[in-house]
Amino acid sequence: MKQKLINLQSSEYEHPFDKAALERLRSLKGFDTVVNFVLNWTTIKWRIVELCGSNFHVTKESCPELYSLVHESAEVLNLDRLPQIYTQWSYNVNAYTTGYRNDTILVFYTGAVDLMTDEELTFIASHELGHIRSGHVLYHVMGQVFANIIASSVLAGSLLEPIQIALQYWNRMSEFTADRAGLLSCQNLDAALSATMKMAGIPKRYFNTTDPHVFAKQAEEFMTQYGDTANTIIRNISILDDSHPWTVMRAYELIKWVESGEYQRILDAHQGKQCPMCGQYIEFDAAICPVCGYKFE
Ligand SMILES: [Zn+2]
Ligand SMILES: [Zn+2]
Repeated sequence: MKQKLINLQSSEYEHPFDKAALERLRSLKGFDTVVNFVLNWTTIKWRIVELCGSNFHVTKESCPELYSLVHESAEVLNLDRLPQIYTQWSYNVNAYTTGYRNDTILVFYTGAVDLMTDEELTFIASHELGHIRSGHVLYHVMGQVFANIIASSVLAGSLLEPIQIALQYWNRMSEFTADRAGLLSCQNLDAALSATMKMAGIPKRYFNTTDPHVFAKQAEEFMTQYGDTANTIIRNISILDDSHPWTVMRAYELIKWVESGEYQRILDAHQGKQCPMCGQYIEFDAAICPVCGYKFE
C-alpha cells in the first residue's frame, strides 16, 4: 500500500504552466457563456450514454483488481468523488476521463491494462484522477465538443477559434499537472517513466530489457535541442490530435519536478502517522484512529 497523502490539496502540485494557461482561458471574452452552453448541451449526455452502452463496466464484482487499483489510487490522492470506470477495446496505451460531476467516467484502453505493470497502471489511473481532482474534465470535454462544432460549421468555427486555441494550449499544459498527481500516487519515478515510455511507443518485445533511464536521457536531449520549438508548436497549432501526447516533454517536466525537491516535500508534508493497531495513515494530530478507535498516548 502506498503512503496516503493526508489533506493533500491539488493546488500544491498544479504545474505553473497549467495554472497560467487556465487563468488566460477563463479570462477570455465569452468563455462563461460557452461553458454554460456546453454544460446544457445534450450531446454530452448522449456521449455518456453511448459510452456506457458500448464499453465494459469495471465494478467490484466484474473486475475487482482494476477496481481496487483505481480506488486505492484515489485514496492515496485524497479524492473523495470517484468516477465510474470502463474499459474500451483499443491497443492504444492510454486512458481518458470524460463526463461531468456524478457522470464522470474514467476509461482505460485495453492496451493500457494489458501492457502495463500494476505500478505503471497506477500512474496512468492517478494521472486521470489528477484531472478530476483539478477540475480539468469539463474543459477537456469542451475541447472535444468544439472540435466537432468547428469541423461541421465554418461560422461557429470562426467564433469559437480564439477560445479553442487557448483551450488546446491549456489542454497540453494540464497534462503536466496530471502527471504530477500520477507520480504522487504511484510513488515510483521509474514506473512513471516506463509508463510514459510505453505511451511513447516502445515495442512490446523491448518492455523488459529497456531501462526507463534511457527515456529520461532522450527527454533531456530533446528539450536541449527542441525545447523552444516544441513550446512554439504547442502554443500556435490549435488542433493537435491525441496521437501526439508530447510524452517526451512530459517525462522531462516530471523529472525536473522530482529534481527540484518539490515532490519529496509534498510526500513528507502529507505523510501523517500510522495507526499501530490497524495500519491506517491518519492526520499527525489525531488523538483517536477514525478507523479502529485506537487511542494515541
Ligand atoms: Zn491527461
Ligand atoms: Zn487504527
